[in-house]
Amino acid sequence: MDTLFAHATLVTMDESLRVIPDGFLGITDGKISYLGTVPPLENEKPKTIIDGSGMVLMPGLINCHTHLPMSLLRGYADDFTLDTWLHEYIFPREARLDDRCVKAGTLLSICECLQFGITSVSDMYMFTGAVAEAVAQSGIKANLGYSMTLAEDEELDIERFPPFLDLQQVRQTWHGYDNGRIRIDACLHSVYTSTYPLWEAISEYAINTGLRMQLHLSETRKEQEECLARYGLTPAQVLDCHHVFNVPATAAHCVHLTQEDMTLLAKRGVSAVHCPVSNLKLASGQADVLAMVKAGMNVTLGTDSSASNNNLDLFEEMKTACLMAKGKTGDPTVLAAPAVLLMATVCGARAQGREQECGMLKVGMDADIIMVDFSLPHLMPCHNVLSNLVYSASGRDVRMTMVRGKILYMDGKFPTIDVNEIVKELAQYAIPNVFSSDPSHKG
Ligand SMILES: [Zn+2]
Repeated sequence: MDTLFAHATLVTMDESLRVIPDGFLGITDGKISYLGTVPPLENEKPKTIIDGSGMVLMPGLINCHTHLPMSLLRGYADDFTLDTWLHEYIFPREARLDDRCVKAGTLLSICECLQFGITSVSDMYMFTGAVAEAVAQSGIKANLGYSMTLAEDEELDIERFPPFLDLQQVRQTWHGYDNGRIRIDACLHSVYTSTYPLWEAISEYAINTGLRMQLHLSETRKEQEECLARYGLTPAQVLDCHHVFNVPATAAHCVHLTQEDMTLLAKRGVSAVHCPVSNLKLASGQADVLAMVKAGMNVTLGTDSSASNNNLDLFEEMKTACLMAKGKTGDPTVLAAPAVLLMATVCGARAQGREQECGMLKVGMDADIIMVDFSLPHLMPCHNVLSNLVYSASGRDVRMTMVRGKILYMDGKFPTIDVNEIVKELAQYAIPNVFSSDPSHKG
């Protein structure tokens, strides 16, 4: 046994949502090898013992929708509509990115993820090779989508389409890296930034190569209405006609789905990523999580990027999801704490195709584990550990984050990432590169 956590409260998130007070959890070769109320047998002799008194151990959180490099744009353009925000602020800055900027922004975001207890992310961006390099170095898990768009008047010759050539290259280099720690997903930015030749080409590629799919779906009323006016179908319906959901797909937002959309997406096995903070901040609307669950969809949680959130704290997302559902329905009994904890762990793993490897504390699963400090004043007393995790805790209470048994964050330190180096790279290269000649940039 490599590591033993002793005397911690174990929030397993297993099928019976078992909580083990004063429990013991052992790790061997990156996997959970022991779980119980008494110490393992003498002959197990762990190399390292970590005292978990006053701590909660739980599966690492899974952030199913983000754009890691966009932390570079945090706080740059707040309080605008999605349309203005994207077209007037975000897209022009993104046009100035390069691999080096993207890698720096991604490493910054990964630090934030690890610090807040996130062990796996589904990311959607460009420069995916640079994102993958940062992920590889850090030790976090990631499903990386190469986000594609196609302008309305643009002809598509897929074999010569530069993003498609990049995707093929990235898939060859990174798909399955480090025993599947990195996975490459096919990815469409959205129905409103592309047209059907791209939907069909990417779907065909995903089907033939066994990739999963990521996309934004029905984020705003405008997207929904324009799509209906143009195609006579909702975004979910029109993309389905072009085979986008013929592979396991993860659809971010799903704010304006119709009941028929939900039935269709459930039938296709599509996972929805609920991003309540981003949806509230951009006033996109309030997704009907309960209806999606009732329709049979797998519903997960995501922060979206730091440019529309403006952090990657999935604890904040859990609480907001609960509050939004209660506020929307006028019923305080809906979407209780255990439900959102499942969304942030088990359901997230399922959306990533990782349900056999993580999302629970269970013998045989990867040791993707976080330790939350329950000795802090705002987490006392503890009548119900699941309630405290959702309603009282924040990402800042995470003391340790581990992926496959390797500590990637503990007490303010990141063993795989040189934070000072990132700070320097941001100040000397990435930020000037993206913002230098912008008169509104005040540094
Ligand atoms: Zn997004």
